[in-house]
Amino acid sequence: MKKIWGKKAGYPREKTENGWHDSFSIQQSGYQIKDNQLILSQGNHEGKRQPKIIIPFELTNPLKGETKIINVSWKKNQWTLNIACDIEIPPQMPLSEIKKMLGIDRGVRKILAISEGWKLFNPEYWNKIEKKYIEFQRSLDRKVKGSSNWKKVKSKMSSMGKKTSNRMKDLCHKTSRELVDKSDLLALEKLETSKMVSKENKKVGKWTRDGMLKACWGKLAFFIVYKAKGAGKWYMFVSPSNTSKRCSNANCGKINKELKDEETFLCPSCGYKEDRDVNAAKNILWKAQKKLGLIKTG
Ligand SMILES: [Zn+2]
Repeated sequence: MKKIWGKKAGYPREKTENGWHDSFSIQQSGYQIKDNQLILSQGNHEGKRQPKIIIPFELTNPLKGETKIINVSWKKNQWTLNIACDIEIPPQMPLSEIKKMLGIDRGVRKILAISEGWKLFNPEYWNKIEKKYIEFQRSLDRKVKGSSNWKKVKSKMSSMGKKTSNRMKDLCHKTSRELVDKSDLLALEKLETSKMVSKENKKVGKWTRDGMLKACWGKLAFFIVYKAKGAGKWYMFVSPSNTSKRCSNANCGKINKELKDEETFLCPSCGYKEDRDVNAAKNILWKAQKKLGLIKTG
């Protein structure tokens, strides 16, 4: 494929830090998709009919609905097709039919905690990846930019990045699927992620533990929203103010301003004890329920 769409073919190319980046779009009229093959018609050139180009591909998600625009890009030493499809979205279920509800807290200690008590912890391998990337980065700094040794390290980094990114996507897909399947309403916080991760790690980049955490929060929210929409379920983003400081006990609801950085939330007013992040998840759900008029008090 690279030869077909190389520089000579006149497709847009962009020079990035990691090498060349090629990307272009194909409109609906210019292709067909059949049995995991993309068939491109090249039309006529100088009066001669050009042969079709057939490109086999692997699907990461099953295709649904009618395919529209395809974006083709060359990134991290492989071609990627992004296929946009038109799907029919079912009508949202009536508010009165909502039975199962979930509050979801995305946090620093864990990727997320839900109001039912289930938690998703940062995977162990993140520490390894972070360490490896810092090593690679240091090794790059010692090499002449663009030299063959520099390129070798760059390519190792890039393949590790690709693998990590796929693993992360997989985790987010599975988790979001599970959460959407088990509830009719999903409540999340509006996050300002840049404020939540530590400053010293920002420089090191996206393959640090903080970088991966940030990416996961974003992906999870994105996947939850489109899966909820696709299933006609409800989702809501609420303000994060006081979600970790409020006591989620239904009879209390006091704001605990003195709360320190402990793992456990302990209410000085009523004695209610709960995992800090689960307490936050319960408050997130409470806010959404209030907003939708599903609870009247408080
Ligand atoms: Zn309380």
